[in-house]
Amino acid sequence: MTEQNISNLSHEDRVFEPPADLAANANVTAEVYDEAAADRPAFWGKQAERLDWGTPFTEVLDWSNAPFAKWFVGGKLNAAYNCVDRHVESGNGDKVALHFVGEPEGDTRDITYAELQDLVSQAANALIDLGVQTGDRVAIYLPMIPEAVIAMLACARLGAPHTVVFGGFSADALSSRILDCEAKVVITADGGYRRGAPSALKPAVDEALEKCPDVTGVLVVRRTGQDTAWTEGRDVWWHETVDQASTDHTPEMFDAEHPLYVMYTSGTTGSPKGILHTTGGYLVQSAWTFWAVFDYKPDDIYWCTADVGWVTGHSYIVYGPLANGATQVLYEGTPDTPHKGRWWQIVQDYKVSLFYTAPTAVRTFMKWGDDIPAKHDLSSLRILGSVGESINPEAYVWYRDNIGGGTTPIVDTWWQTETGAHMISPLPGVTSAKPGSAMTAIPGIAAEVVDDSGNPVDNGEGGYLVITEPWPSMLRTIWGDDDRYKETYWSRWPQYYFAGDGARKDEDGAIWLLGRVDDVMNVSGHRLSTTEIESALVSHPKVAEAAVVGATDDTTGQAVVAFVILRESAQGGGDDIIAELRNHVGHQIGPIAKPRQVMVVPELPKTRSGKIMRRLLRDVAENREVGNTTTLADAGVMDLISSGMQTAKDDD
Ligand code: ATP
Ligand code: MG
Repeated sequence: MTEQNISNLSHEDRVFEPPADLAANANVTAEVYDEAAADRPAFWGKQAERLDWGTPFTEVLDWSNAPFAKWFVGGKLNAAYNCVDRHVESGNGDKVALHFVGEPEGDTRDITYAELQDLVSQAANALIDLGVQTGDRVAIYLPMIPEAVIAMLACARLGAPHTVVFGGFSADALSSRILDCEAKVVITADGGYRRGAPSALKPAVDEALEKCPDVTGVLVVRRTGQDTAWTEGRDVWWHETVDQASTDHTPEMFDAEHPLYVMYTSGTTGSPKGILHTTGGYLVQSAWTFWAVFDYKPDDIYWCTADVGWVTGHSYIVYGPLANGATQVLYEGTPDTPHKGRWWQIVQDYKVSLFYTAPTAVRTFMKWGDDIPAKHDLSSLRILGSVGESINPEAYVWYRDNIGGGTTPIVDTWWQTETGAHMISPLPGVTSAKPGSAMTAIPGIAAEVVDDSGNPVDNGEGGYLVITEPWPSMLRTIWGDDDRYKETYWSRWPQYYFAGDGARKDEDGAIWLLGRVDDVMNVSGHRLSTTEIESALVSHPKVAEAAVVGATDDTTGQAVVAFVILRESAQGGGDDIIAELRNHVGHQIGPIAKPRQVMVVPELPKTRSGKIMRRLLRDVAENREVGNTTTLADAGVMDLISSGMQTAKDDD
């Protein structure tokens, strides 16, 4: 072994057992792990039975052309039929699929499965009129309104792969994605409501399409009613086409490997990659994991706060929940409009029982204060989920106590755009969960932590996270670039899928995600992960959020530079805060991890899916021009941070 493994510094003793009644009635029991491990294809073949197939598959997995997988070979199905029509046919047409909550108060709309079937069929017919055929790509650039879900399902119904672009992205981000996947039609809206005001979307489409001559049609939802520029012959209104279209549409069955969608990664580490997901395997794993990991029961009310423009919105707003016939909340706006208790008001109003959000949101609520959720009745919640980053133990315990009433289990779900669905997560009725750990691979999935040579590390050691067996919802390639697919994921150890994340196994073999391998810092020969130092900072009572990066250092090679956001109760923190935080990290995990600098900042650069973009902070810490910011949620943040950095350096 040439390089030292990633250090294992933190230690956590708390364990939360599943509540007894939940364990007694859980969808998945402990035996399922062994059953699945004994024969993974057989296990997934069995899970595939929860879908309706037009033609049954003849083989579960064909891995002969690795790393290009074929799952459910010979099978034919329609994803939209599985998410909508079959629930109507089985007598659940009156069940609510979507409780839509617009950002303006009182703007709500409930859509049953029967209504959804009509709406999706109408949208499919309108897309056909716009010239969309099976195999054509359609770009979707919409706010979080029901039409986003309807549009995705209409594309799936036609076998026209969608590429959803987050509505907050710029015209450039939109045009580059449209060009990369050669979309023919764009579905958008005049605008959506954000932070209490209409926010236009169509102008960005018009600007993007100046660079995309092959787009022949733009379907526009009227959401805000604001003035909208119009290109005759290209643009059509949703209400003048979809609403007028026939509700009759017979779904065609497509091959299990027919492309379902292309989703671009968040771009946290570099330029986004167009991840291709196909129909059968993706739908099986997203449907099964929704049922298993959230312990979904038919009377649950589910709410995932992610945007549909992110993979979580695909797997756990659209395909997973709807394939299960679930009822869910869809919220358009921001958490603090018109007040910081808006989310908890929604949980109370709709009696949400399963709630799925990101650590960044949890830390924001920690920053705002305990009194805000305390004003609402959150007793309907029975399972809480987390996704997107490691959840720091402090944030986990805050979430459990303040949102979950001190008893509700948390599922910390590790997965990626590339994996399509959950991979490593506790099961709420089975796992004794440790705060901050995603615990173990779910049944049917084989994950390992390996060293540089690809050998599994011992318990108590850190290394690289790999997936050692193919799985149904795995990406099939990077759109249009098979070589980049092989190079990015299958070249470091040809037999393993390399996720790009560092991880460690604790003394019990539980997996702790340590952040991106690209972000690992090398301080005096010690390889330090970002996650552990960030969690140590967040465990200080005055800190709400933290990001650390390695900056070039003359003496130590790299030095730890920390950026922190203080809790509102810390009131600026006082003069000693920097020394206090450096010492705190030293005490928590050891002197080697002590940051060289601690910067108190008002915000951190995040992608719209809530992930911290450490590569931009590294640019700041090393006084470089800040790199590609196109996937940043708020580009102004970097100016705030860079100017703060300057003053702090002068003080040093
Ligand atoms: P890019 O690949 O373009 O840099 P990205 O990796 O941020 O973008 P996503 O696919 O949205 O794009 O994010 C997946 C990554 O998010 C994982 O590789 C991991 O680093 C992180 N992640 C997701 N869930 C968890 C979790 N529960 N614990 C720790 N990390 C997580
Ligand atoms: Mg990634």
